[in-house]
Amino acid sequence: MSKFYEEIAELFRTRGDAAYHGEAVSQTEHALQSAALAEGEGASDALVVAALLHDIGHLIDDPSEELAGQGIDGRHEAVGGAWLASRFGPEVTDPVRDHVDAKRYLCAVDPSYRGGLSSASILSLNLQGGPMNDEEIARFEAFPHFHDAIRLRKWDDTAKIPGLAVPAIDHYRARLIAVESPR
Ligand code: FE
Repeated sequence: MSKFYEEIAELFRTRGDAAYHGEAVSQTEHALQSAALAEGEGASDALVVAALLHDIGHLIDDPSEELAGQGIDGRHEAVGGAWLASRFGPEVTDPVRDHVDAKRYLCAVDPSYRGGLSSASILSLNLQGGPMNDEEIARFEAFPHFHDAIRLRKWDDTAKIPGLAVPAIDHYRARLIAVESPR
C-alpha cells in the first residue's frame, strides 16, 4: 500500500492535462513518454521514477508557469526536487533537480545538442542561465548523479511526440514503491 503512489496518480489525474510548456503534449503525456524511454533503455527503478516525476514541480502548487510567462524562471526542478525529497533518496531527487542544469551543460559541451532542442526549450534556456561556463561544467561533472541527469535530460528532450501510445501511470506503480523511502 503506498499512499504516495496514490498522491502522485491523483496529481496527474487532476493537473496532468495541462499543456507541457510550449509543446504539443500534456504534462501527463510528457511524463509517461519520459518514463517509457527510460524503461526502454533499461534504466534503474530510481531513474525510471525520476524520469516519470522530473516535472512534478509543474503539477504541485507553484507559480513557475505564471512566472515563465513574465520572463522569470520559477525553478520547477528545485520545487519538484524538494517535494520529492520527503519520499525518495538522492538517486531519484538529484537527476530531477539537475535536469535543467543538464541542458545548460549539454549546450556548452555538445555543439550538436542545441540544434536538436525545440524552440520552447531554447527560449527557456536563456531564462535558466544559458550554457554553462567552464567552472560550472567542472562542478557539474563532479556531481554523483551527473550521468543520470544527462540521460534524463535526453529523454526529456525527446518525450514530446503527440499521440504516442505508452503505458499508463499504474505501469510504474511497483517501481515507485520499490524506491520509495518509508515515511
Ligand atoms: Fe520535462
